[in-house]
Amino acid sequence: MTASSDLRYDVTIVGGGLVGGSLALALTAIGLKVALVERVPLRDVGKASYDDRTLALSLASRRIFEGISLWPGLDDGVTPIRKVHVSNRGHFGTVTFEASEYGLEALGYVAEGRVIGGAVAAELPRRDGLDLYIPAEVKALDTTRGGATVALATDDGSLVLRSALVVGADGTHSTIRALMGLPAETHDYGHTAVIANVTPRHDHAGVAYERMTTSGPLAVLPHVNGRCGIVWCTPSSQAQDVLDLSDADFLQGLQQRFGYRLGRFQKAGARASYPISRLYAARQVGERSLIIGNAAHTIYPVAAQGFNLGLRDVALLTELVADAAGGDIGSPDLLERYQQLRARDHQRMVQFTDGMIRVFAPDLLGFNALRSAGLVALQTLPFLKNALARRTLGLGGHVPRLALGENLGQISGDDSKDSGHG
Ligand SMILES: Cc1cc2nc3c(=O)[nH]c(=O)nc-3n(C[C@H](O)[C@H](O)[C@H](O)COP(=O)(O)OP(=O)(O)OC[C@H]3O[C@@H](n4cnc5c(N)ncnc54)[C@H](O)[C@@H]3O)c2cc1C
Repeated sequence: MTASSDLRYDVTIVGGGLVGGSLALALTAIGLKVALVERVPLRDVGKASYDDRTLALSLASRRIFEGISLWPGLDDGVTPIRKVHVSNRGHFGTVTFEASEYGLEALGYVAEGRVIGGAVAAELPRRDGLDLYIPAEVKALDTTRGGATVALATDDGSLVLRSALVVGADGTHSTIRALMGLPAETHDYGHTAVIANVTPRHDHAGVAYERMTTSGPLAVLPHVNGRCGIVWCTPSSQAQDVLDLSDADFLQGLQQRFGYRLGRFQKAGARASYPISRLYAARQVGERSLIIGNAAHTIYPVAAQGFNLGLRDVALLTELVADAAGGDIGSPDLLERYQQLRARDHQRMVQFTDGMIRVFAPDLLGFNALRSAGLVALQTLPFLKNALARRTLGLGGHVPRLALGENLGQISGDDSKDSGHG
């Protein structure tokens, strides 16, 4: 197929994972014309973001999902987190956060990536103003002051999409980031996360556990039907051994690391593994283009924050675009404002997750008393604890209006046509 000059949009999003898919829903909800490009066919998305992993969603993320009408589609598959319990294996000192301390019904919510992804994927084809280019692969990006073009390879040949703004939501190995020429700092932790669902003897009572150990953190998240979602982070050299264990040996290893707070673990589901790395692009915007989600910041899954951070990118970008109604939604001013308002949240979350891993690393083994003292200090110093709680709720620093539960309204059709591309 030859390039057509008719494929014009307000925004082209590259990457239809959880973040890119959510952005497509958010931007069409305010009346924009959007193209979504994804290389994996929707029925195969289980191989990308939409898998068995349990994801913890913050309060801010719930509000963003409510703002884009996605929350009702998740309701059945979501478990509220009433309490968070952080401990250091084999040492004294714990920190607990209770929803009731903050006057909340829940500190967050746990759902399977597959459930969240399924809700996003079901909603995408229903949205007015949204064209899906799936499967399609980006071949080139060309930006000028007047507009941006993205060249695609599809099963039917090549296509060119024109828009006022291109958003790269194409994950850690982002093609758009490379095409924009944005440098990124990366770090391989040498760790792999093994995930599984398990059933403990006792009711989890909505408690999410984060247990720090010298070989990596272990998260035990409350899940539906009395199950818990496990994220067991381990040195990559040992990950295959954990995957190869019999169910009985896996449960025993888990029990050794976690203890008996939930009684004996009785049943384990399928296991899967994810290599863990860190990536941070200090500069995230360019001419008529920007990167969001894992393409801009990939963090250690220790505090269950990666997707939440990406959803706040979605919320702020949608807010700035809505505020620019009638003007140029890909202007340098808008993009600079995005960069400036998101930088602090990104930096703090990268530093926080990275700091947690370094503090509990084996080469600092002699510092266990200090670590425990740190947890005690956190538990007993309200200002420290409250600051951390606000951040994990997604309510620290500059909070996008969608994350505060505000409605952004609709941009009128006529205004959005004037958004500056061409
Ligand atoms: C074990 C584990 C547990 C986690 N737990 C949590 C948690 O509890 N809470 C939380 O908030 N976060 C959590 N995270 C982080 C979260 O999973 C990610 O931050 C989130 O999924 C990132 O989504 P994304 O859409 O930015 O990127 P991705 O999921 O990587 O999606 C990118 C998409 O772009 C597509 N793509 C890539 N290149 C191209 C191209 N050239 N052309 C077209 N399409 C392309 C891909 O196919 C993919 O669909 C966890 C991560 C791990 C590994």
